[in-house]
Amino acid sequence: MKLRCLSLLLITCCAPACFGAGQLRTQVASRVAELYPQLEPLYKHFHSHPELSLHEEQTSKRLADDLDQLGFTVARRVGGHGVVAVIKNGNGRTVLVRTDMDALPVTEQTGAPYASIVKATDDKGNTVGVMHACGHDMHMTVFLGAARVLAQLKDNWQGTLVMIAQPAEEKVQGAKAMLADGLFTRFPKPDYCLALHCAPDLPAGSVGVTEGYALANVDSVDIVIRGVSGHGAWPHKTKDPIVLAAQTVLALQTIVSRETDPTQPAVVTVGSIHGGTKHNIIPDEVKLQLTLRSYSDDVRKHTIEAINRMTRGLAQAAGLPEDRYPVVTIADESSPATYNNPELAQRVMSVFRTWFGDDRTIATKPIMGAEDFGLLGRTDDKIPVCMFWLGTVDPQRFAQRASEPLPALHSSKFLPVIEPTFKTGVTAMTAVVLDLLAK
Ligand SMILES: [Zn+2]
Ligand SMILES: [Zn+2]
Repeated sequence: MKLRCLSLLLITCCAPACFGAGQLRTQVASRVAELYPQLEPLYKHFHSHPELSLHEEQTSKRLADDLDQLGFTVARRVGGHGVVAVIKNGNGRTVLVRTDMDALPVTEQTGAPYASIVKATDDKGNTVGVMHACGHDMHMTVFLGAARVLAQLKDNWQGTLVMIAQPAEEKVQGAKAMLADGLFTRFPKPDYCLALHCAPDLPAGSVGVTEGYALANVDSVDIVIRGVSGHGAWPHKTKDPIVLAAQTVLALQTIVSRETDPTQPAVVTVGSIHGGTKHNIIPDEVKLQLTLRSYSDDVRKHTIEAINRMTRGLAQAAGLPEDRYPVVTIADESSPATYNNPELAQRVMSVFRTWFGDDRTIATKPIMGAEDFGLLGRTDDKIPVCMFWLGTVDPQRFAQRASEPLPALHSSKFLPVIEPTFKTGVTAMTAVVLDLLAK
């Protein structure tokens, strides 16, 4: 009897809300299904018309025009080719949704009928193939899909929606440029920032969320090790930068193994070493190129300090004068870690569990790749941000991954299966915004 009363009570309390939520899911599903025939060709268009970082002219125009037609107030050329589109829908919170737009200097080898054959001239004057090898074409299509569904379902949410298309993600310059151009001052300041990224290792139809650090700090470092050149048969008359470079490469390995807390992830990789021209000439200099990865800002800072200390110390030990000490440069293409606000990540996760079920909602691990989206959470406002993963692999292909490795992001063979990737992406982004801007 008691149980019956309790269950009756539960039914009475939950019924309207559950019914409403279920009805909303059905509405979103039918809107997404309606959109698909229009947006599938758009995805193929983006895929076959990629533009390199800082050259996203046509891509940003297309996005801005579409958002304009949907009733957003659109600002163009924010931080380069950036687009900011705002729709105000009564009082409430402000949610920002971000897509990136740029492609990579990669010659596509997917064999898809809509594969890119675009060639462009890169910053160094080389002719390069151009490809959406990081899935930003899918990000844009999903972004426009979510914009359209949310514009159509305005009765189901309230607040302000800010949708931004960011340029130059691959050069980790776009987010910085948009912030510097007033993203949080000229436009409504968000309470939450959201983005998604294609996952090359999750089945299409699934979504992944990482709580806390999701992507790493990345720094590119150039070191010029200088010496005093001379004849290979008179080494005592020289200061050999090749021997010094070899010592430096080995010494740098101890930053992670001997100087960093073993519980804190860090990577120091020397990816390139170039010096000398001939067997019997001791050259003037050797050039090293490094990539550094970490999550915590302290580890990042320490690693850079240690590189400076070790390179100088070894040069001193080799007897070089101070004006021939190595030159260490931290490149502009550096990006701080993306930290998914745990509370927001948990909320996103619980929305996905409700909408997609536990099977399709995956708690993903942090990765050592990088993104500049995390910068939106690093201003003084400390706005909670969350970037989640969108599965892109054909489920049958996914099942064979042990025998046939899956192409990684940036591979010339990376190609998301359009469905169910697209519909899952639009549904996921729409669902989270509807939850954060619920009436
Ligand atoms: Zn990328
Ligand atoms: Zn990317």
